[in-house]
Amino acid sequence: MRFGMHLTFKDGPTLAKSLGCQALQIFCGNPRGWLKTPLEDDFIQSFRAGVAAAKLDPIVVHATYLINLAARSDDIYQKSSDAFILELKRSQQLGAKFFVLHIGNHMGAGPEAGRARVAAAMQRAEREVPNGPEILVENTAGGGTSLGTTFEEVAAVIDAAGIERLGLCLDTCHAFAAGYDIRTKAGVTSMLDTIDKTIGLKRLRCLHFNDSKGALGSHLDRHEHIGGGEIGIEGFRALLSDKRVWHLPAILETPKELPTSDVENLWRTFELAIAAGTVKKSDVGMKPVGLETPSDKPKPKTKSAPVVPKKKAVKSRKAD
Ligand SMILES: [Zn+2]
Ligand SMILES: [Zn+2]
Repeated sequence: MRFGMHLTFKDGPTLAKSLGCQALQIFCGNPRGWLKTPLEDDFIQSFRAGVAAAKLDPIVVHATYLINLAARSDDIYQKSSDAFILELKRSQQLGAKFFVLHIGNHMGAGPEAGRARVAAAMQRAEREVPNGPEILVENTAGGGTSLGTTFEEVAAVIDAAGIERLGLCLDTCHAFAAGYDIRTKAGVTSMLDTIDKTIGLKRLRCLHFNDSKGALGSHLDRHEHIGGGEIGIEGFRALLSDKRVWHLPAILETPKELPTSDVENLWRTFELAIAAGTVKKSDVGMKPVGLETPSDKPKPKTKSAPVVPKKKAVKSRKAD
């Protein structure tokens, strides 16, 4: 497996390298705006050079927030479909392998109408950006009119679109909040069995590694530090020990409360992955000196107080 995280568009490769990431996810522009200007050639070149220097693979682009391919309003749908095509083109320019997006909200039009709109946008992508990145839809936490809360629903969207390069990005926080109990090995096995039966495991192409602030089935999309939330360290240990995910990249989208949050979550994950046997110690470099990770100290079973990384690293720990 290869591990990375969501970082900023402008200096993602440099940051990823300094943190020890093996993969990188970015937005390809302002996440809260409709994109308009084309990317500058200089920027594309320096981004690609940064990716090569840091040996980052894959590059994943996450769609910006305004895009809703299931939208009921014609105006929002048209803007979304145009922005989707533009972002796919940008992703292609940046050398991205995957483009991840939420399926969208049907806004009361009903799942079938929403699916038809998403399918039409996917077919447009196939025509207008034929050699672009693979498109991965993300399962959602649910609530409101969002599509993709169950894997059956994701499969229905993939079937409706009928294009080969469409797959799944599995978000652990969203799955748990949607009601898939992945706190145990049995739960992880059952979720992956369900994905296999509905979507097919060969379409599972990327993981989003996030613990969950919300309880099982809460439909709350609030990410937490790995092992610090309601899924807990055992859930991630179980997922990492399932060989059906061993060929996949995993991207962290964990909170960035402190400057050390990213590196702590990354190393907590590395240590679990090494223990599970899916990553070699020699592949992840040196653990930063003084880095305390909550997996060093087992989390008390009782309350869901988030394991907030300490501001000051413990100086006496050896780099192992
Ligand atoms: Zn996600
Ligand atoms: Zn989320």
